[in-house]
Amino acid sequence: MRRFDLSEWKRSPHLTDLRRTVAGLLAEGRHRTALDEVLCALRRDPENLDGLFVALSVLAQSRTTRLGSPEPLTEMQQWSALLAPITTACSACDARWYSTHAVLFADNDVQFQPTNPIGMQCQKCRYTLCRDCLKAQRPTSYTASVDAPEVVAGSCANTACDGRGLSVPVLPTGRPDATPMDPAAIEGVLVVRDGPIRPTTDDALAVVTRFLPLISDDAPLLHIRRARPGTMSDNATRDALARSLLLDLEREGALAPDSWGRSRRMHILAGPGGDGDYLIVPVQKSLRRLPPATPHAASGPGTYTYLLQILPLRGSWATLRDPRTGDFHEGTFGALSAPAESLPGIAQEIIKRFERMGQSRRVMFFEGDYTQEQGLTTDDVYGIVTEGSASLSPYSEGAE
Ligand SMILES: [Zn+2]
Ligand SMILES: [Zn+2]
Repeated sequence: MRRFDLSEWKRSPHLTDLRRTVAGLLAEGRHRTALDEVLCALRRDPENLDGLFVALSVLAQSRTTRLGSPEPLTEMQQWSALLAPITTACSACDARWYSTHAVLFADNDVQFQPTNPIGMQCQKCRYTLCRDCLKAQRPTSYTASVDAPEVVAGSCANTACDGRGLSVPVLPTGRPDATPMDPAAIEGVLVVRDGPIRPTTDDALAVVTRFLPLISDDAPLLHIRRARPGTMSDNATRDALARSLLLDLEREGALAPDSWGRSRRMHILAGPGGDGDYLIVPVQKSLRRLPPATPHAASGPGTYTYLLQILPLRGSWATLRDPRTGDFHEGTFGALSAPAESLPGIAQEIIKRFERMGQSRRVMFFEGDYTQEQGLTTDDVYGIVTEGSASLSPYSEGAE
């Protein structure tokens, strides 16, 4: 989920266990434990709307209340990637905050006027400006250069949007730097910090939890390394570093083979602790633990690229892409190594993972690893597996 939408959340008449637990903890002023409870619940089910709403309610408590609490929230909790869907991000700068408007609006329908809004939002496309950017965009007299484009304070800057001026409520926008990912599918995370000193587990967790949907309990998934000078200077050197460290981990048996094809490289400039640049490499679980084919029919494993497609109600088969980056949606595209006979089983697992899409799904396989290349063509399709099917069928234009 990219962002939380209040309209999708229906308050159930009964308190869920989570809401009851959290309400009890908040009544005792135990904010840190309350948010930990929510984060644990979201770690199990990151898209749980009730969990996200409860998190927002904890964060909506006034800053003074929270700071005066015997258990104030920690930085690491507050900026957890699990809370990315309820974050509001300024469209013009790096400012991030949790807007309480969604919670206030949920409680009743009363009109309210925030006296000192922390930002304003386009009610149509959610283009958002923080207070500082709103101030900065107010036309100034002589400080701005004559040819600087004049931005009218509080107007939506999306050219395609004809929304009126910016106003309240300010609702969650999601975080552009956090990609939705299934925590259960993460096999391990390589964490490298530039510099001679190996980061501590706490240093590493502070960075990892900010960008990946993991919690402190996931510390055993981390493989923490340091980087020799010059090995993290650009994309090419960072990739080479990641590749060699992943291979080491495979040799040690800490990761399944071919982890490179299941990895992403995330370069984080100046970690949250301001302690240096990090390279974070999450590796997805291998899909290879599948029904072994009958021994006499087994062939050696081959390398295949998979791509999940959905069939919208109207239209033809389509891929799922991240609206911001244009990349294939996490988990819908990747390379794997498996015998050809096990591809239908693998496809069904992938199809099942996207159950909540609620649409017809199928998986296309390509022979070889296409993850680092541009342009997949239907000519290269090795075979297609549709939902519920136990066999590979050849590609055809109108295939259902
Ligand atoms: Zn801003
Ligand atoms: Zn707009």
